[in-house]
Amino acid sequence: MSAAALLLALLAAALPQEAPQGCRACQKRGVVDCPEHEAGLRELEAAVRCSEAAGCARCGGALATDCPKCEGGPESAAAEARRAELAAWLAAGRLPVEEALGRAVLRVEAPHVHLAGEIGTLKDGKKKASGHRFLHELARDAELAAGMVNAHFGLERERDYKAPMRLWFWQEEATHLAVMREHLKISGAGDVKILGRKPTFTVWTADRAFGDEFADLLTLGVHNAVHMLLSNAWDEVWIGDQGAGWFDGGAAHWYEEKIYGRARHYCIDEAGSPPNWENGVWRAAIRALLARREASVLPELVRRQTGEMTPEEHALSWSVYDWILATNPEALAPILKGLKAKRPAREVLPETLGLGVVEAERAWRAWVADAYPAREKKPKD
Ligand SMILES: [Zn+2]
Ligand SMILES: [Zn+2]
Ligand SMILES: [Zn+2]
Ligand SMILES: [Zn+2]
Repeated sequence: MSAAALLLALLAAALPQEAPQGCRACQKRGVVDCPEHEAGLRELEAAVRCSEAAGCARCGGALATDCPKCEGGPESAAAEARRAELAAWLAAGRLPVEEALGRAVLRVEAPHVHLAGEIGTLKDGKKKASGHRFLHELARDAELAAGMVNAHFGLERERDYKAPMRLWFWQEEATHLAVMREHLKISGAGDVKILGRKPTFTVWTADRAFGDEFADLLTLGVHNAVHMLLSNAWDEVWIGDQGAGWFDGGAAHWYEEKIYGRARHYCIDEAGSPPNWENGVWRAAIRALLARREASVLPELVRRQTGEMTPEEHALSWSVYDWILATNPEALAPILKGLKAKRPAREVLPETLGLGVVEAERAWRAWVADAYPAREKKPKD
């Protein structure tokens, strides 16, 4: 072969084959939407791994099937890759909790949160919503919270967390109890979270405190995901029982309130009557409370455990976190690291904020008087 002919042959081999272009029937995609999936969830499905979607006999979770009218198009390869990815994920086997129950459950896995459970339908106002939709919306909102936590603390998922946050939701009380006793080996009946190295949260959705209410359970999931993220970041230490409930609880309320405009969850076992300080709308109420209370708040607050704080102290903790984030956001990471090292706030605050506890209270009160409104609309329910 001459040099010129060889060059031509090499060029021909290197040229890509004509890529398939799709057709009019598939709007030049090469694939068509799989009709088997719940309306309005396509975007949320694409962001996670979902066992229900992956189990679709028509599309294997790609949400699209080959166009019957053409040889494929620009979206064909991505659909095939997604189908293979989800098949490999399912083939990796059941979760330990599924093995313990002896059956597969619904799983929705996002980068920071691995959700699982068995929920038929939940109450969403006057409508009903599927448990499947619930796990997808929770995955979306918990990832939103995780993204903010990461930004505020300079955290990176792969580098700084030891495990994904596992959150489980069971509509049957018997399943919740079986998971706790036989799988997690813990006692108790209400919603329970295990913090630190392998964070796990499990709840019976029909518990009187939550009543199968979609919005209540969604905010519960995000609130607890934040506790779990902070307990797992860097060192696997939960500060909530190390005398730093103000920071642990304050943060959990902060992201919940940021996403939903309201705080609902207190991590207090109230035997079916959850606390509801000022209906979860706190700015004007905190401003009024501090204006009429002359006695100092912080010296006592910064020593409390998460589980022993009153509803009012939870709200005050939220406000202290709100103040630090607004005025000194780069202090959040060193404060958390100091508290995780089991050092008291009276040492950590001067080092990170340049303020002793008494000075910090003065600055926080002045900020609240300026930043919070005197009046605020309250939700009706
Ligand atoms: Zn086509
Ligand atoms: Zn799904
Ligand atoms: Zn499908
Ligand atoms: Zn909490």
